[in-house]
Amino acid sequence: MSLNLRTLDDIDLQNKKVFLRVDFNIPINNGVVGDCTRIEASLPTIREIRQKGGRIALFSHLGRPNGCVNPKYSLKPLIKVLEEYFPNTPIVFKEGDYIQNPENFWQNTDENTIILAENIRFYEDEEKNDIGFAKKLAQLADIMVNDAFATCHRSHASIVAITQFLPSFAGRLLESELTSLYHFYIQGKQPFMAMIGGAKISSKIEVLKKIIPKIQILGIGGGMANTFLLAQGYFIGKSLAESGQISIAKDILQQCQKLNKKVILPIDVVVAEELSPNTKVTIKNIDELSENDCIFDIGPKTIALLKNALNESKTLLWNGPLGAFETKPFDQGTHQFAQYATLLTKEKKITSITGGGDSVAALASLGLEKDFSYVSTGGGAFLEWIEGRIMPGLEVLFKNNPASCAILF
Ligand code: ADP
Ligand code: MG
Repeated sequence: MSLNLRTLDDIDLQNKKVFLRVDFNIPINNGVVGDCTRIEASLPTIREIRQKGGRIALFSHLGRPNGCVNPKYSLKPLIKVLEEYFPNTPIVFKEGDYIQNPENFWQNTDENTIILAENIRFYEDEEKNDIGFAKKLAQLADIMVNDAFATCHRSHASIVAITQFLPSFAGRLLESELTSLYHFYIQGKQPFMAMIGGAKISSKIEVLKKIIPKIQILGIGGGMANTFLLAQGYFIGKSLAESGQISIAKDILQQCQKLNKKVILPIDVVVAEELSPNTKVTIKNIDELSENDCIFDIGPKTIALLKNALNESKTLLWNGPLGAFETKPFDQGTHQFAQYATLLTKEKKITSITGGGDSVAALASLGLEKDFSYVSTGGGAFLEWIEGRIMPGLEVLFKNNPASCAILF
């Protein structure tokens, strides 16, 4: 499938200074770097540009410093990480107001050097997609390569406005996210099951609406299942729910019924009075809840139903943990469902797709993230893609935008 994207295949990189926008927004706590999956995902792009004679300056954001310099959000701890991935390569860190003197930016570097620029969100104009700021960024390099799929849903200067001033191309990670989404999602084999969980229905409504026509089975878990249970008239005690979304939950259930889609909601749940590791935990059928009960996970009968549904499916799209997995023992629903999904994937009985910040964190904590057919690095961008939105950062990288971008959905 040809994407019609401008990629690394479309440029001569020899001696070119490359503004490489990556998403290195990874957990860094007190200088200790956490999961490096996103850095590893961009290594092929970095290596290819270097092999083809390009010189690299890496630009990323980290967290939400709101346009202020804040050491808590510094990318400095990544110098060591990059030095490990690129031995014998000088990693030069650019801090301070590095856009003011573009002529100094590449000083004391050679073709072997990798520049790492400090958090681009330390400049307040970044999130404003400011044209003047983008023009200054563009003066730092000859071409722009965007490998930050996870930031493509943001209209920010280093993602969007900069493309007005530099020839711009998709990096290999961005390209592979789009080809994988096309291959695994658009061309996913039927029967197609979607498993949607997470805390809130409000953040997943657009995803739900978009996927219903495509799928045969919809599993609903996590905190958002509670609002659906309310919509069905169940008493849910003190469980987290969004009373303002009950009518939407009813609409979604009606739409599924009309289109003859199977919906699986929890029939039993794990309840406690509070979310803490040593709390007293009970498993109850969904019609047995009392005043002080809070639902924090799906129960074993529900897990069995979901596993059966997986047996009937050829493709699984999963977003959103099925319980408050960060606190044991409420990780069981997520754990067991993930284990079964990866087992069927290994046996080549299903193709499995997952994405979403917390979903991937949950899988990583179980050591199962590598066993899915495809795990998106996209987080919010992954969800927006599923929603069918044309993302501002993608639109500017297509050859005949935006029409050719739209055919992807
Ligand atoms: P993602 O980032 O993968 O899209 P969400 O952000 O929608 O996922 O949801 C993740 C959060 O949902 C997790 O922090 C998890 O603790 C929470 N969650 C899931 N089920 C419950 C529940 N029953 N009660 C409270 N929180 C829940
Ligand atoms: Mg989340």
